[in-house]
Amino acid sequence: MCCLNIYAREKLLPEEGFLSSDHPFNSPPIPAQPEAKRHSSTWESHRQKNGSKHLAVIRRSPGSGPHLILGQARYPVDMASTITNNVPRVLDGIAIAAQIKSELAEQVASARRLGPAPGLAVILVGEVPASQIYVRSKVKTCGELGIYSELHTPSANATTEELLDLVASLNSRDEIDGILIQLPLPQHVDTTRLLEAIAPQKDVDGFHPINAGRLLNGSPVEKVLAPCTPAGIMEILRRSGISVRGKRAVVIGRSNIVGKPLAVMLVNASATVTVCHSQTTDLAAVAREADILVAAIGRPGFVTPEMVRPGATIIDVGINRIATTEDLERFFPDDQARHASFAKRGSTLVGDVHPAAFAVSAAYTPVPGGVGALTIAMLMANTVKAARLRRG
Ligand code: NAD
Repeated sequence: MCCLNIYAREKLLPEEGFLSSDHPFNSPPIPAQPEAKRHSSTWESHRQKNGSKHLAVIRRSPGSGPHLILGQARYPVDMASTITNNVPRVLDGIAIAAQIKSELAEQVASARRLGPAPGLAVILVGEVPASQIYVRSKVKTCGELGIYSELHTPSANATTEELLDLVASLNSRDEIDGILIQLPLPQHVDTTRLLEAIAPQKDVDGFHPINAGRLLNGSPVEKVLAPCTPAGIMEILRRSGISVRGKRAVVIGRSNIVGKPLAVMLVNASATVTVCHSQTTDLAAVAREADILVAAIGRPGFVTPEMVRPGATIIDVGINRIATTEDLERFFPDDQARHASFAKRGSTLVGDVHPAAFAVSAAYTPVPGGVGALTIAMLMANTVKAARLRRG
């Protein structure tokens, strides 16, 4: 995300002007667009009509002082220089995941000098293409790190009882440290019963109530198998030097696999945490209080600039595929690389945060290449941890 620059025309009031992503501060001013000054909505239609790359405008409204307008958001004008000089830091999930995997490879190598390699069993029921891709990449990563893995592929017709038998046999095998059941399961299978049948010490997804309870009770991180996505978010923050202690964190989304466990982890790390969800009143106002804002809801571009406090850290968990040119224009109007990849593939990914909102932040995780990159690395970390905790 590039720096935003402010434009002031001679005839405008000193505080008035345009913000743009594509011209340096000292370049010739952008020509006057009188209608653009009057209303931000008019300005927005002007922007679309002219294909302008202006991202925001500063304007003076009757009866109130000048404001910085970014999307639908209004900020006090004294924040303009903060925002215009802002170059948000990209929290590179791919690089952090690579670092974690390289550390794990060393730990696995030392473990193998003393005994058997840590072992992961993956259960993939049926033939869901997306699940097959995820599972393949989990098994491949095990191979890269020296972790033993085996893949079980019962048919889509397998009954709950048959799958319970498989889990029981894996529970009893000493060389298996972790058991992962790839979700979603076919509708006729009792998912909860199956997940609860995994021995808690082999529950590398961290979904078992025993592990959820341990997390809630504040067990030390190194002793609990925590869900991979929230654990990955905590690693991104820690390894990026973003302190959590005493910070105001807002988590949007309360799912059992992301929102809730992440809220617990943030509390355990001494943040002050608010969890928002579909029934939250005035969610934008709550979100604006966040030093650390997490979006995990599965709604493309849900978080817009006015929901972000300038200088906040944004963690975008959402992975949403968009496949229409309207959506492409809505989220990535000036992003040539996205347009090229969209033209090639017919779709692209966007998170739960509108890309324009990143411009206000101090740091953010991109989609793709942010939180998603950490999930498999944390699964590997849990497998190595499970082996260490169980075998001593
Ligand atoms: P979920 O569907 O289980 O939960 C969604 C949550 O969002 C619910 O708690 C709901 O209350 C809340 N929500 C829905 N609409 C809302 C609204 N309009 N306002 C406020 N809250 C609203 O989703 P999930 O499994 O937690 O996943 C969320 C997103 O994260 C999805 O896009 C998913 O693909 C992605 N995800 C990414 C990873 C990763 O590795 N990066 C892992 C898991 C999930």
